[in-house]
Amino acid sequence: MHNFDFNTVNEELFTFLNASPNSFFAVANIANTLIAQGYTQLSEGKPWQLEIGKGYFVTRNESSLIAFRVPALNCEIAEASKAEANYNGFQIYACHCDSPSFKLKYNWEIVAAQKYLKLNVEKYGGMIMSTWLDRPLSVAGRVIVETEKGVESRLVNIDKDLLMIPSLAIHMNRDVNEGYKWNAQNDMLPLCGSNLVQGDLKNIIAEAVGVEPKDILDTDLFLYNRMPATIYGVEKEFIASGRLDDLQCAFAGYKGFLEAEEAPNSIPVYCLYDNEEVGSGTKQGAASTFLKDTLQRINSALGKGQEQYLMALANSFMVSADNGHAVHPNNVDKSDANNRPFLNEGIVIKYSANQKYTTDAVAGALFRSLCKKAEVPVQVFHNRSDMLGGSTLGNISGNQVAVKTVDIGLPQLAMHSAYETAGVKDTAYLVEAVKVLFSTSLVEEADGKYSLK
Ligand code: ZN
Repeated sequence: MHNFDFNTVNEELFTFLNASPNSFFAVANIANTLIAQGYTQLSEGKPWQLEIGKGYFVTRNESSLIAFRVPALNCEIAEASKAEANYNGFQIYACHCDSPSFKLKYNWEIVAAQKYLKLNVEKYGGMIMSTWLDRPLSVAGRVIVETEKGVESRLVNIDKDLLMIPSLAIHMNRDVNEGYKWNAQNDMLPLCGSNLVQGDLKNIIAEAVGVEPKDILDTDLFLYNRMPATIYGVEKEFIASGRLDDLQCAFAGYKGFLEAEEAPNSIPVYCLYDNEEVGSGTKQGAASTFLKDTLQRINSALGKGQEQYLMALANSFMVSADNGHAVHPNNVDKSDANNRPFLNEGIVIKYSANQKYTTDAVAGALFRSLCKKAEVPVQVFHNRSDMLGGSTLGNISGNQVAVKTVDIGLPQLAMHSAYETAGVKDTAYLVEAVKVLFSTSLVEEADGKYSLK
């Protein structure tokens, strides 16, 4: 086994989690890391010219990102012409960067009892609402401002304890512990200030992005939990943070992508999608053409035609990474009898007979083979047969780009809480597995017969 440096991996993970209150920031942080490592940013609206041996990335809506490298391919010399360069297929890792939260409505100020100023918000995704109560919150996202040339997006994070959604005292809601139905419009509006400060939040945001309030045309602003990531447990076994689903997999994926040794003939692709929590059906979500468009443009830029593209898809493999449910200490019987993962016991392969998860025997076996090579533990998740599970982006993305796909994740507790728990070891395991994924080429010798080189 490796000597895993769990501490360093968790420190890096925490830096990423704390700096990524939502998808816009996750994408910006990863883009900055890629630029620092010499990657070139491509624009979907401009022509692409790719050079052998170089790394690239492209973003869509500032909230989804795809990064890839053009490896040496099978050319003997680095300056080989495009026509000589032949590639085998794509090794793809896909995950998501959005998490459930509350989004500010366009007219976000509401005065209550002529004394309080509240923010009018609506749900984004399916959060456990009660976990957002009684904890310091703030606002982050993007602001679209009017400039002399047109309109321009600017990211903003009001980096201070700004808001709170106070619980109702038990004296005024005696039945709260008997099961309470939270109402998003009545119960979940954060307290922002007194009625005397109307317009202040807009002023604060305008100042933060360096414009006059009148120049703000529109916003995508979300609440986020201010509590930073931490380690807990008598032997420091656990990590906790907001947004572990799915920033833990997003982080492990790009760290593994950056650290992987090159597979000579396959193109490593790291794919970070927005909007998984609301069904993936946006222009930048997993159901969109973003991945397909990107792969086709890579293929064309390498001077290849349609047949080469289809051959490449047959020789491609996708790891769809989204966190899974570990056995819960107070609800052990919610998990399957013997297909149930635990924290710190490795990467979870997810199965579902109705293909909510895409894993089949071939994809499962290929992934197990990679993990064996990486010397990392794997475990298994099935839902109880009498329980409906969630779905993820693997099967959705497969409608646009049909490649062999395994659905995996890291085991966690309290999924979609404002503060989730996972294991201290599992992120490092996934980093190692991703390194092996990207340093391997898959070749489909025939349907049902595959080699991993
Ligand atoms: Zn997820």
